[in-house]
Amino acid sequence: MTDEKNQGTLWASAKTSELSPPYHPLIRELAAEKNLPEDSMKSLLTHLFSPEAEKDRQFLYENARKTANETFGNKVYLRGLIEFTNYCRNDCYYCGIRAGNKKASRYRLTREEILECCHEGHDLGLHTFVLQGGEDMAYSPQDVADLVSSIKATFPDCAVTLSIGERSHEDYLLWYEAGADRYLLRHETADEAHYHRLHPKNLSLKHRMDCLYDLKSIGYQTGAGFMVGSPGQTIDTLLEDLAFLKKLKPEMIGIGPFIPHKDTPFAREAAGSMTQTLVLLSILRLMHPKALLPSTTALSTIAENGRELGILAGGNVVMPNLSPGSVRKKYMLYNNKRSDGSEAAQHIDELARRFEAIGYTIDFGRGDAPSHTL
Ligand code: SAM
Repeated sequence: MTDEKNQGTLWASAKTSELSPPYHPLIRELAAEKNLPEDSMKSLLTHLFSPEAEKDRQFLYENARKTANETFGNKVYLRGLIEFTNYCRNDCYYCGIRAGNKKASRYRLTREEILECCHEGHDLGLHTFVLQGGEDMAYSPQDVADLVSSIKATFPDCAVTLSIGERSHEDYLLWYEAGADRYLLRHETADEAHYHRLHPKNLSLKHRMDCLYDLKSIGYQTGAGFMVGSPGQTIDTLLEDLAFLKKLKPEMIGIGPFIPHKDTPFAREAAGSMTQTLVLLSILRLMHPKALLPSTTALSTIAENGRELGILAGGNVVMPNLSPGSVRKKYMLYNNKRSDGSEAAQHIDELARRFEAIGYTIDFGRGDAPSHTL
């Protein structure tokens, strides 16, 4: 898939600037100050999204790599991803497991099956388990708490990350007290109108943001983030995303290209591009030098070497898939989502070789976020 075919809505707003401001000084200022005034950020982002900015993009990636190396060395942290249910009560327009997708073949894993995945991951050397799923109310809050405490009791040297959507303060607190260490909840977009373009009326940006602040105040290492090139995204909505993340100060930031799913209302929308995702990864690295930034599955879905490119743009985490083979194809968030080959935790050796080839080594530790300094 080429970037040209894959330009999404953003290129339209990314007009080539006739009067080129000096972009290298702006990138240096971003690296030194970890932020830029809004108009400078807008001009830099617009330029970096333009086809002729390749040299400047390379300069940006180099700076982001250097910044990541200063905190993390040439290490890539691993997280074992267990997609334990694809039932969801929500109807997000972009998502393949939305409630309204009657073609999705639904599954949920039992506590024993989830623990079995953790055993397999632990045997492979993994020390973080990410339990992700739709908002599936068939697991009661106490079921989730029991699951977390069993995992922590069986694998006391491991971190548990939850990623199961918007829930009450009581649920988040219960799970934290059961031992959950981290929580991933992408904000998806920080722009109100854009949020409504992506979600039905019963979902609100305010509630999602409140959940993120709540998670942080409880003490979770918290992850936010967004899709790149989602329908309706513009340079201005991206500026709002960058400003929101600066304010939230998340320990983790997950971004990846939007990819359409054939059985959703966005089936005919264009996918987000590799270039835009890499530029934003690098900008986020410079704005949040110590954040954990995954090079996502979506990135490796749009290009064979996407995961490596994400690391070379300043990412420092990958999340190999630990879900049982029998359900992997059912957690289909978007068309052609990769889940086998080097995406599978069982092929960590291949992953290690691929990272070695670009000068990185896999770190098998828990990979906690360093204390946050902005
Ligand atoms: N239900 C939880 C939640 O809402 O946070 C976690 C599961 S949800 C499927 C995980 C993430 O998948 C979402 O935050 C979204 O950014 C991403 N996602 C869903 N559909 C996608 C698509 N079509 N392309 C790229 N990413 C997608």
